[in-house]
Amino acid sequence: MNPILNLARPDILSLQPYQHAAWEPTLERMHANEMPWRAQGDASNAGLNRYPEPQPDELIEHLANLYGTSPKNVIAGRGSDEGIDLLVRAFCRAGEDSVLICPPTFGMYKVSARIQGAGVIEVPLVKERGFELDVQSVLAAWRENVKLIFICTPNNPTGNLLDRASIEVLCAQLSDKALVVVDEAYIEFANAASMVQELERFPNLVILRTLSKAYALAGARCGALIAHEDIISLLARVITPYALPTHTIDSVLHLTDEEHVAESKQRIELILTERARVSEALASLPLVREVWPSDSNFILVDCKDADAVLRAALSAGLIIRDPRSQPGLGSSLRISIGTPDQNDRLIRGVEQASGDLA
Ligand SMILES: *Cc1c(COP(=O)(O)O)cnc(C)c1O
Repeated sequence: MNPILNLARPDILSLQPYQHAAWEPTLERMHANEMPWRAQGDASNAGLNRYPEPQPDELIEHLANLYGTSPKNVIAGRGSDEGIDLLVRAFCRAGEDSVLICPPTFGMYKVSARIQGAGVIEVPLVKERGFELDVQSVLAAWRENVKLIFICTPNNPTGNLLDRASIEVLCAQLSDKALVVVDEAYIEFANAASMVQELERFPNLVILRTLSKAYALAGARCGALIAHEDIISLLARVITPYALPTHTIDSVLHLTDEEHVAESKQRIELILTERARVSEALASLPLVREVWPSDSNFILVDCKDADAVLRAALSAGLIIRDPRSQPGLGSSLRISIGTPDQNDRLIRGVEQASGDLA
């Protein structure tokens, strides 16, 4: 057994999981209290009258191929958000354990921890060094009850990749002390390899991947959590029995086939070209103080007058993200790269507002 399971909640380790209706596709189903007929107009492959296959073999194999790992190391859920939630619920005892996060970062880590009644320890990224990971401070902040360390790379909302060697130091130093959860939601937009390749080296490494960003499937709700098989087995006990809707399974298999992977690659190229164009254009405007370098499909912009930039975007019919409540982001806005037309409208809007300012 992977000794990292010693960190899991004892009541989850000893849990008798829910026994879902056996998956026996060669037999006709009279064991799950389903209707034996489809609803009129139900054009799904499997029939929506039937419960879906829990953790469908074909889907898990497909995701394992897509992400360069083996099916035994994959659990699929409703977006990476579900992966985050599963980890917190399986590893953190309410009122006793904590997660560690490096703000400014993705909001769900803290929310999931709070919902579970877990503590949240914050070790900020170092803004003066381009929002760099502060490994020594993370190690110094670790205590016995810190079960999960969330590392988002490229980080949302700052956009930058974190140093891979530093993350490996964390994995090595904390190999039996905490899970290091590397959220790679935006890795497809970065010129960097996934840490999936390091799974063999680190029994405490967990990787989150999602179809919501690079594959244009945010509405399908599907993400993969990739980890040592013992961690996967543990989380499989906690996940809701029929987590993935039939429509999601069908759409993902179809919309991430070879042809769609090629489509996604082309679109990513366009996003990267546009990211450079928008960054350069905005950086030259008087309302903008700094555009941070980005390894993702959005940019973080420090503004001289963030309210004016927000208003300019709204007048152009565009909504951008206001992350100013996060530490270090008091004058920053986050802008997702859109179509060339949307990007033009944004640039023109901020340009005009800059003119009004002058
Ligand atoms: C968007 C995003 C996700 C993806 O969430 P899903 O639930 O898969 O849609 C995960 N992590 C980060 C940092 C994100 O920005």
